[in-house]
Amino acid sequence: MEFSLIDRIRQRAGQRPDVLLGIGDDAALIRPPAGQLLVVTSDTLNVGVHFPHDTKAADIGWKALAVNLSDLAAMGAEPAFCTLALSLPKADAAWLDGFLDGFLALARAHGVALAGGDTTRGPLSINVTAHGWVPAGQALRRDAARVGDEVWVTGTLGDAAAALAQLEAGGVADPALRQRLDRPVPRIEAGQALRGIARACIDVSDGLLQDLGHVCAASGVGAEIALDALPASTALLSRVNQPTRHGEQACGGDDYELCFTAAPAEDAAIHALGERLGLRLSRIGSIVEGAGVQALLADGRPWHPPRAGYAHFGA
Ligand code: ADP
Ligand code: MG
Repeated sequence: MEFSLIDRIRQRAGQRPDVLLGIGDDAALIRPPAGQLLVVTSDTLNVGVHFPHDTKAADIGWKALAVNLSDLAAMGAEPAFCTLALSLPKADAAWLDGFLDGFLALARAHGVALAGGDTTRGPLSINVTAHGWVPAGQALRRDAARVGDEVWVTGTLGDAAAALAQLEAGGVADPALRQRLDRPVPRIEAGQALRGIARACIDVSDGLLQDLGHVCAASGVGAEIALDALPASTALLSRVNQPTRHGEQACGGDDYELCFTAAPAEDAAIHALGERLGLRLSRIGSIVEGAGVQALLADGRPWHPPRAGYAHFGA
């Protein structure tokens, strides 16, 4: 049974010249390009934790790859290939076909080959390991922020968290918000274009304040963020219930935007980049001496979040 599923996957997986041998042998054979470092990241999606139980198979497939490509983007890497470890409650070919529709649509969009994986029976869980390349010395790391840097974020924040809040309240999520929860768009082009412009970078998966906190801890600095500067989508702004917006934008998870720091001298380059990519890039704060991330209200008073961000095992 698992072999017919694997065969289905093999028939649809993409090819790449640097993947010399893909699905079908004991392991894949890859030829790394000269002068580049291999960038490796792995993320698991569990039902009920990383996606709601009612999520469509195609959306699960898309998201399983998207969250991994987002990590590669945050390193400034070019994605190349991935492996897929699937744990499925039953051998459901129709579900698998739907899953592959979403997974492979995103893979194709970025030239990513599916080079191998594992298929087992168990509770629905998807692990993807994604691999990419970055020129030696050019990766965007968490430990490179400096005092005086400005803090930037791509796209908009809070949509996915707002969709989840609507679902948890027992309702139906606004379709535009739900789309951001189910189909996050990894900022692959932006990540690569930021090489040589940004200093530190991270992808926002567990809430802006928490993730920027990782940058600050790794870099030995602090950060100040202006709540009013956090970019919001029209869908988020037009929602009836606004009091929770700042919490969703600063602390909600599943945004998969890039948060990066750069010297003020890079402002013009960053604006030009946003124009070229058609991507909103917002300056939201600055790197300061000290430790930790402080969010500030419009009048300069400190803002205290209802909760810091997502942690799998609690505080
Ligand atoms: P092994 O027993 O050597 O681990 P498997 O039967 O698990 O072999 O896998 C056979 C081939 O199919 C391998 O090349 C493996 O990488 C690939 N494969 C298995 N499951 C998946 C999957 N979910 N996605 C992609 N490739 C897979
Ligand atoms: Mg195996």
